[in-house]
Amino acid sequence: MIICMKQGAPRTQADHVIKAVEDAGLEPAPLFGTERTVIAVLGDERELDMKKFKAMEGVENVMPVLRPYQLVSRESHQGDTIVDFGNGVKIGGKEDIAIMAGPCSVETEELIMDVAEHVKQKGAQFLRGGAFKPRTGPYSFQGHGEEALKWMKKAGEKTGLKVVTEVLDTQHVDMMYDYIDMYQVGARNMQNFELLKALGRKDKPVLLKRGMSAKFNEFLLAAEYIAKEGNSKIVLCERGIRTFCGYSRNTIDINVIPWVKKMSHLPIILDPSHGTGSYEMVQPIAMAGVAAGADGIMMEVHPRPEQAWSDGDQSIKYDTLDTVLDGIHKIAEVVRK
Ligand code: PEP
Ligand code: MN
Repeated sequence: MIICMKQGAPRTQADHVIKAVEDAGLEPAPLFGTERTVIAVLGDERELDMKKFKAMEGVENVMPVLRPYQLVSRESHQGDTIVDFGNGVKIGGKEDIAIMAGPCSVETEELIMDVAEHVKQKGAQFLRGGAFKPRTGPYSFQGHGEEALKWMKKAGEKTGLKVVTEVLDTQHVDMMYDYIDMYQVGARNMQNFELLKALGRKDKPVLLKRGMSAKFNEFLLAAEYIAKEGNSKIVLCERGIRTFCGYSRNTIDINVIPWVKKMSHLPIILDPSHGTGSYEMVQPIAMAGVAAGADGIMMEVHPRPEQAWSDGDQSIKYDTLDTVLDGIHKIAEVVRK
């Protein structure tokens, strides 16, 4: 941490700050200039409340030098984390692009079986689908809950697909455990800290979607909550953020993919369905994600999107899935040697 004193701040104010740094167990290294004093602070500053220093008399600015997240940071772990689901299914590092596909909502047992068989046959490794749906309005379909989890488990067992589905509530964490292979934390819950902590105490992988207005540090700090409790099986997911663009549901922050790779060892996948809100944009954006280094793609697939109970406009049909996967694999061949 670097503390800049205000221009002309008296020496006594700098001395107070130096003492406060010492009291916090860190080592101050002051530089007394003719106009301004700068105090470098040596030691791990992350548990300090910087706002307290900023509130001290004579202090103009306080700048952190360490990243606020530790466990998920590339500094703490040089290699790439590879999340292993068993049976040869892995996400991260140089592993094959993971494909997660399925309907937005698990509408009926027949639907989820049908989608599972189709997406498995086309090469997906994961079946997605919402059993608990976080809908904007309370009158929209909220999901079949545990009943849908039973159907998903059955579909997973029949096809060999791994099941990933959203957990909305800490009270559901234990109940869901035996039905699924991966917990999904949705964008709306990225900063539900009690939920993150509860998932951190489990040994199952977590797919952490980026909040729709989350800054980069907030995204990685949400992952840090899970890691801090002991669960390092975390896969990040960019699903678009809110901007002023006006024409698409969200704006995919493609930059975040290489930035995550630089700053963290965790894998990151892309969700072009929620990111664009349009089935027509899924293929080009999925390809762009792979080109940028994404470790996987999550897509909404429905046999009859016009009849889907949610997100039909961004769901692709089975035959489009062929085209999308073809595009993804062509790009992967070029960028993932
Ligand atoms: C979903 O994947 O079903 C979903 C609701 O996505 P998000 O949390 O990204 O909106
Ligand atoms: Mn959806």
